[in-house]
Amino acid sequence: MKLNYFEPFNSYIDLEKMELNPEGDLIIRKLSDMVDSFQDKEAAKEALKGNPTIYKFYNVQIPEEDGHLQHCISMIFPGKIGNEYYMTKGHFHKIKDTAEVYLTLKGKGKLVMQTPDQKSKVLDMRQRSISYIPPYWAHRTVNTGDEPLIILGVYRGDAGHNYGIIEEKGMATLVLEKNGEVVLEGNPHY
Ligand code: ZN
Repeated sequence: MKLNYFEPFNSYIDLEKMELNPEGDLIIRKLSDMVDSFQDKEAAKEALKGNPTIYKFYNVQIPEEDGHLQHCISMIFPGKIGNEYYMTKGHFHKIKDTAEVYLTLKGKGKLVMQTPDQKSKVLDMRQRSISYIPPYWAHRTVNTGDEPLIILGVYRGDAGHNYGIIEEKGMATLVLEKNGEVVLEGNPHY
């Protein structure tokens, strides 16, 4: 049998310009794309007037097949809505028992995770930290710094995304700023 080999290739990241080359699929999430993700509805409504970009990510173009490895570069901008730091929407994988690895390339933040039965875990992310997100854990990245938080994520080719309960309620643990400190707090909607 003759195999059809997929061609190996490189991507190059520019941490200063915040670009990936080749670009792949660039997805930009503005506040209007995720306004319900933030807890402070008044602050979100006010910030919506300027509709800031919260984060963007570059999906390297890889077939959605289980033998492949999807990888993407996520760039979360610094900022807050009310006292809640800018963050990604957060997701489970559509194929629930698929893991992911995050390598932090720049900036600092928190990796907020939870299981379907709402066990919660938060890890620190800082330059050169390698975070393991085991199967079943939903994951969201939060930028607690004052520069962009830039991450490489690698996961199974066909894992997919499921925003489900997180889109409705947020995640069980919130990352907030209080008196200049980063504070973890339980989400009152849980
Ligand atoms: Zn993921």
